[in-house]
Amino acid sequence: MRRRFLGGVHPASYKESTRRKPIMPLEESPKQVAIPLTMCTGGGAVPVVKPGDKVTVGQVIAKPEEGGVYVHSSVSGRVRAIEPRPHPWGGRWDAIVIDNDGQDTPCPDLPEPMDWSRMDRAQVLERICQAGITSMGGGASPTHLRIARSVGRVDTLIVSAAECEPYLTADHRLLLEHGDQVLQSVQMLSQLLRADRAVLVVAGDKLNAVEFLERRLRRKRRSVELVTIETRYPLGMEKQLVRTITGREVPPGQSAVDVKCAVFNVATAYMVRAALLEGQPVTHRAVTVSGGAVARPRNLWVPIGTPLRCLLESAGGLKEEPAIILTGGPMTGTVQTDLEAPVVKNTNALLCLTKQEHGGADQPETVCVRCGHCVSSCPMNLNPAFVYRAVRMGETDRLPQLHLEDCMECGCCSYICPSHIPLADLVRQARTILAEGGEQA
Ligand code: SF4
Ligand code: SF4
Repeated sequence: MRRRFLGGVHPASYKESTRRKPIMPLEESPKQVAIPLTMCTGGGAVPVVKPGDKVTVGQVIAKPEEGGVYVHSSVSGRVRAIEPRPHPWGGRWDAIVIDNDGQDTPCPDLPEPMDWSRMDRAQVLERICQAGITSMGGGASPTHLRIARSVGRVDTLIVSAAECEPYLTADHRLLLEHGDQVLQSVQMLSQLLRADRAVLVVAGDKLNAVEFLERRLRRKRRSVELVTIETRYPLGMEKQLVRTITGREVPPGQSAVDVKCAVFNVATAYMVRAALLEGQPVTHRAVTVSGGAVARPRNLWVPIGTPLRCLLESAGGLKEEPAIILTGGPMTGTVQTDLEAPVVKNTNALLCLTKQEHGGADQPETVCVRCGHCVSSCPMNLNPAFVYRAVRMGETDRLPQLHLEDCMECGCCSYICPSHIPLADLVRQARTILAEGGEQA
């Protein structure tokens, strides 16, 4: 039986154009990559190379400052500069710019595969740390810190291949093309965390992957539970997954580990396996390139630091002027105005949407008709219509009672509102008002 969760919306999936496209390398290797020193939410890294140095694929080129992650070269060649470059999260951030020699020479100092089950847990965590793994599903938190925080404190591991936002299919392809490794990675993470239960969550729109994984599970006898969830946005969010799989509520201001759960994205788990069993750091990732304005939508295996422009070129370029370009999904993605910005570790998609696809965002806002759709779609049980009234009418004294700290910025309320009121933005604005002491900005 498929499970479902409270609230959420059913946006058109737009996955047809890439769901059958295998993950392929770029048609042409980038001539130059710009690898940012900051690719996780915890902090940055300090370069250990200088302009003129030769580098190889997988070589450490920057070591983490507190809370950051290791950074590795994704190509072989020579360091051209260390300078501010466009970053897909916005603005210009320091990056190590490398001229690619096109040889893909592997680093001779990559660590040996590890018999991790016999190793000390601290050594295993150090290996994961040195592989520079961050959450690959969009969150960008350092994975070794998440694992360290969870070891011995959780009874349930949830690995999410929900990929619930429209257009995104890279995780779906990972399940189909590397299903055995994915199942192995779930089992490994579960052992590492000492969890009693290991669950791989797949959305119901990936039935071919579910059937494939079920067959592999029967054959390999792995102790991984495969759970299919009704396709609905935002089922991939941490609190929704915990509630749907275990029935436990994550209290406001707390995280999954506080209710004995650890949640990882499937691509992150896959990278952990590669680090331990193959000694591979994060140098490449799968990216879905899609949207109605793209000539040949596809899934690509891309060196970190590759300009977004190169991904678009490998997908045949644009067939019409896009109304908007995003990295990430259309509900939570980041608008891109400069295609020289590079792919970073949490870039799971490049979307070029037509005016028709972007549609509602251009519609003029009208008055609230009190339909209640925003309330029934909110997966956190909030009342965005009350927030709208409180902010727009200046009744900010009402805000403290509206539990705004629970909002996870999923955007369902804005998406569903027939009056095109930017409710998620208003909730964000209301939180700022509260943070600033209750006065309207
Ligand atoms: S109020 Fe927040 S959590 Fe609720 S639907 Fe809107 S953005 Fe999502
Ligand atoms: S969905 Fe929009 S129109 Fe309906 S109650 Fe909420 S704010 Fe009002």
